[in-house]
Amino acid sequence: MRYRSFPRIPGLPVSVLGFGCMRLPVVGGDLKQIDEAPARTLLRQGIDRGINYVDTAYPYHGGESEPFVGRALKDGYRDKVLLATKLPVWLAQTEADWERLLDEQLQRLDTDHIDFYLLHALGAARWETVLRLRGLPAMERALADGRIRHLGFSFHDALQVFKPIVDGYDWEFCQIQFNFMDEGYQAGLEGLDYAAARGVGVIAMEPLRGGTLAAEQPPDVQRIWARSPVPRTAAAWALQWVWDHPGVVTALSGMNADLQLQENLAAAAGARPGGLATEELALVDEVREFYAARIRVPCTTCGYCAPCPNGVAIPETFASYNTGSMFANWKAAAFAYGAFVAGPGHGADKCEDCGACEPKCPQQIDIPARLKEAHEALTVHPV
Ligand code: SF4
Ligand code: SF4
Repeated sequence: MRYRSFPRIPGLPVSVLGFGCMRLPVVGGDLKQIDEAPARTLLRQGIDRGINYVDTAYPYHGGESEPFVGRALKDGYRDKVLLATKLPVWLAQTEADWERLLDEQLQRLDTDHIDFYLLHALGAARWETVLRLRGLPAMERALADGRIRHLGFSFHDALQVFKPIVDGYDWEFCQIQFNFMDEGYQAGLEGLDYAAARGVGVIAMEPLRGGTLAAEQPPDVQRIWARSPVPRTAAAWALQWVWDHPGVVTALSGMNADLQLQENLAAAAGARPGGLATEELALVDEVREFYAARIRVPCTTCGYCAPCPNGVAIPETFASYNTGSMFANWKAAAFAYGAFVAGPGHGADKCEDCGACEPKCPQQIDIPARLKEAHEALTVHPV
């Protein structure tokens, strides 16, 4: 295992591979029923092999991830790791809620402190909530009394929202979606460089894009990878590309099988910033182009069309649709759309064709029509 440090937390080694506890083994396909024994074994094996960053969040596994992590880190494992969880900003309605939620999370995790505490999934609206309800002073009280050790945020919104949030507080770290297919998605590569230039270390989430970059690749992609003199699995290519960026401190992978853990650990042993040769980076470019040619809607997820008066998550809907078509993985795309977009009430079925979004789109996408098409592909009869 290799280790890096956050620029503002020097001297604290963090494993380049972090264990994400949002895709643990479950019983009978029920996300709320974590298969305790194998999940605990997997997590502890990862820690025994050098992983020291464990990431969870209040809503993962329908609220069961935090209590599971608390139990799994018994028998001395809690002291071996930096424990990270995220404050569910959307549940804060009064100024008193910040500390109430933190104390509830400490109880669920059965610990007296959280090493890395993130304001979860900040975007424009949630950042406004944090400021309006004085969330930052509440976090500073928790830092002062030791309930949390380091403060950061995770992010899901457009790049132009990311920059003011980075500049809005003296963050020690932040967490963004980052993989070789998402250089321009949300914060993306420009956001990574922006944060890193300001001394804010970055945690990369979804380095394998929900597993799609690690699954069996189409024959054309396999042929591109096979031209490399250095043999790597698809997962290792994706991870090494993320670690190639020195601004990335750790990459989180939600592992649920021993094979994934072993594969990721093997890749982490070779993680180096600037570790990919020019010819190897050219192969990554070829693979990216292969997948990009299969994009159905030319949405750059710039977010200019937001907000929709009916709450439709336009860029997220198109992102799910494009994931389905790029990787021919409609199952993963439909799952992401159902769980994170349509399920919480932001699906394309809420579109009333008012036309407000269309003139704002620099890509001149016929948004209402393409939303209908996307929703159908992701729900009615996945292609
Ligand atoms: S056309 Fe549909 S998606 Fe666009 S703003 Fe109106 S309701 Fe929202
Ligand atoms: S639909 Fe257009 S405006 Fe909206 S996020 Fe995509 S590219 Fe940007």
